[in-house]
Amino acid sequence: MSKDPFEIYGENVFGEKAMKERFSEDVYNAVKRAMDYGESLDPDIAEAVASVIREWAISKGATHYCHWFQPMTEVTAEKHNAFISPGKDGEAVVEFGGKQLVKGESDASSFPSGGLRATFEARGYTVWDVSSPVFVKQNGELVSLYIPSAFCSQNGEVLDKKTPLLRSMEAINKQAVRVLRALGDNDTKRVVPTMGAEQEYFLVPLELAEKRLDLKLCGRTLFGELSAKGQDDLEDHYYGSIKESVATFMNEVNNELWKMGVSAKTQHNEVAPAQFEIAPSFDSVNVSTDQNQLIMDTLKRVAEHHGFMCLLHEKPFKGLNGSGKHNNYSLITNKGENLFSPGAVMSENSRFMLFICAVIRAVDKYQGLLRSTAATAGNDHRLGGNEAPPGIISIFLGEQLSDAISDFAKSKTGKRSKRKTFELSKTIPALQADTNDRNRTSPFAFTGNKFEFRMVGSAQSTSGPNFALNTMIADALAEFAELLEASCDTEKTIREIAAKTIKENGRIVFNGDNYSEEWVKEAEKRGLLNIKSTPDALKELVTPRVKELFARHGVLSEKELAARYEILLERYYKAVILEASTMSKMISRDIIPAVINYSGSLGSDITAIKKAGFEPSRAIVDTLKLMLGSVDSLKDRINQLSDMLGEIKKIEDPVEKADAVFSRLRPLMLSLRIESDKLEAVIDLDFWPIPTYTDLLFKYL
Ligand code: ADP
Ligand code: MG
Repeated sequence: MSKDPFEIYGENVFGEKAMKERFSEDVYNAVKRAMDYGESLDPDIAEAVASVIREWAISKGATHYCHWFQPMTEVTAEKHNAFISPGKDGEAVVEFGGKQLVKGESDASSFPSGGLRATFEARGYTVWDVSSPVFVKQNGELVSLYIPSAFCSQNGEVLDKKTPLLRSMEAINKQAVRVLRALGDNDTKRVVPTMGAEQEYFLVPLELAEKRLDLKLCGRTLFGELSAKGQDDLEDHYYGSIKESVATFMNEVNNELWKMGVSAKTQHNEVAPAQFEIAPSFDSVNVSTDQNQLIMDTLKRVAEHHGFMCLLHEKPFKGLNGSGKHNNYSLITNKGENLFSPGAVMSENSRFMLFICAVIRAVDKYQGLLRSTAATAGNDHRLGGNEAPPGIISIFLGEQLSDAISDFAKSKTGKRSKRKTFELSKTIPALQADTNDRNRTSPFAFTGNKFEFRMVGSAQSTSGPNFALNTMIADALAEFAELLEASCDTEKTIREIAAKTIKENGRIVFNGDNYSEEWVKEAEKRGLLNIKSTPDALKELVTPRVKELFARHGVLSEKELAARYEILLERYYKAVILEASTMSKMISRDIIPAVINYSGSLGSDITAIKKAGFEPSRAIVDTLKLMLGSVDSLKDRINQLSDMLGEIKKIEDPVEKADAVFSRLRPLMLSLRIESDKLEAVIDLDFWPIPTYTDLLFKYL
C-alpha cells in the first residue's frame, strides 16, 4: 500500500516548511535572502543553519552527509562523510558545522578539467549552493544528507555544470530587471528563469538486458533487428493504458521523488513500445536541473527494484523513436508574473512583445550555440531522424503570435484572439479550444506562455541548454535595455525593436513541418545553420562571438569555455570508442561463435540428409553459404575496426580525433551492424546468443 502523498511530500527536503519550523526568524530571513537574491551568508548564520540542518538530518536517520555536485559529466558526484567522529575519550561525537556545510574539499584529479587544472593540482572545492534545498536521500540502508554544491578548481576556475547556470541566472535577472525598469516597473525585484523537463525513458527486463554487453556498458543496443511489431504497425502504445508492472514502478518513483520535494506530476506511455515519460512541476532552472538529476537517478535505481533496467539513452533501439528531454522555459518575476504570458490581447501587451522579441533575436543570433547544447554522441542518432527535429534550430510561434508581432511592429491594433467553442455531445460540457495548435516537430516552440526546447537528449544534464538560453536572452535584453534607456518614447521604441527583430531575425521563425525535406532546403535559403554532427556542433562553442557573449555576461571566461569544449569533445569520442570496442567484443565473443555453431549444425544436417539418400534443399544450402560468407565478412570488418581504433587512439588533437570518430569509425560500425542484423534475421534463434528486440520490448511489457 502506498503512503499518503500529502504526508510524505517534502518530508526529506529541508525546504520552506522545515525552514519556517526550525529556524529562528533572523536565520530564516538571512537564508531566504541568500536563496532568493543571491546574498552571501555570514559565518555565524552558517553555523546556526548547520546545527539545525544536522539535527534535522539525523532525526531522519542520516548517518552521512555529502556535497552533491555536477562535474562535467552528465551525472552527479558525491562523496559521503560520516557525521560521527571519534571524541577525546574514544566515544563518538557528531562533527558537522558551518564549515562542513559550506565548503568541501576533494581530490578533483579524476574529474574532467579540460586542461584547467594540472594533475599535480589535484585539489578541488565544492561550495554549498544555498538556492537549492538540501535533502535526505535513502539509498538502500544508507541515509545521507545531500548538499547541492558548486565545484571549482583550487584557482577558482569552474569545473562544473552548476556554476555557469547560477551565473547565467544572475545575468538574465540583471538585464530583465533593467528592461522592466526602463518600462517604468519599479517594484519587480527579481526575474527568475524557470524550467520543467519532460523526461523520456525506456524500461526493459533487467535479467535480459544484463545479457547484453552493449546495454550494460553503452546504454543502447549496438545490434538488433527491429521486431515484427514495430511502433508504426500498431499505434497502441502512446498514451495506452499503463501495464500493472510499470504502474507499480511509477508509483514507487513518484513516492521517492515526492519525499525529496520533487513534484512528479505527469506520467504516460510514450510512442515507442516500452517507452515512457515523466514530468515534474517546473521550478527555477537551477532547482529543476538538480531535480532532473534526481529524477534520472531515481528512475534508474527504482527500476531495479522492479526487475527493469531503465534506459536513458537517446537512441537505445534502431528503428524505434529515441528519447529526449523537453526543456520548457519561461521567465517569472518575484511577483509571480510570467513574462511570456500574452494576456488577453497579446498585440497590446508591449512587455510581452519585448520579451518574445528578445527570445527570437537571441535564438537566431546564437542558433549555433543553442544547437551545441544538445550535441552528444547519443543525440546524434536522434536529431534528424523522423521523430526529433533536424539539426536546424528554428522557432515555432504559431500563426496567431506571428501575426500579432507583425501587427504590433506596424502599430496596427491587434485582434482579440477568438477561441473556438465546440460541443461534442449534449452530455459533454462545451469545450473551449486553445488559441494556437501544438507543433510537435519544432525544436523550439512557443506553447502558450513558455518555450519548449525539444532537442535536448534524454541522458543530458539540463544545465547546458539553460545557461546558454539565459545568457543569449540576457544579451538581447541588454541590447533592448540600452535602446529603451535612451528613448523618450518607450512605446515607439518597443515597436521599433519588434520591427527590427522581424527584419533581422525573422528567418528563425518557422511554423511548418520541421521534419520535411522542403524545410531543409528552405532553411538553407534562409541562411540557417544545419549542423549534423556533435563535433561540428561543438565547434560553435568556441567561435569568437560565443566567447565574447559568455565573457560579456560573466558566465564563462574564454579559458573556461575552451576547457569545456575540450571536455565535451573528449566525452564524445570516448563514448563512440567505447561502443566500437563493445561491438568488437560482442562480435568476437558472442556473434561469430554463434554463427560458427549454427553453421556446424547446418553442416551436420546436410551430411545427415545426404546420408539418408536425399539431396539437401536449396534453403539449407543457401543458409549455410550465407552464414559462412557473413562470418568471414564480420571477421574482416572486426580486424578493420581494431586497426582503425588503434589509429584513432593515436590521434592527439581532440578536434581531429572527434572528427575521425564521426567520419570514419561510425560508418564502419554501421556496416558491422548491418551485417550482423542480416544474420540475426535468418539464424535459428536458439543459436542467437543475445536477447532480441522482441524479448526486450515485448516479453514483459
Ligand atoms: P506537454 O507534454 O503538453 O508539453 P507536460 O504537462 O507533459 O506538457 O509538461 C509540461 C512541462 O512544462 C511540465 O514540466 C511543466 O511543469 C512545465 N512548465 C509549465 N509551465 C512552465 C513555465 N512557465 N516555465 C517552465 N516550465 C513550465
Ligand atoms: Mg512537451
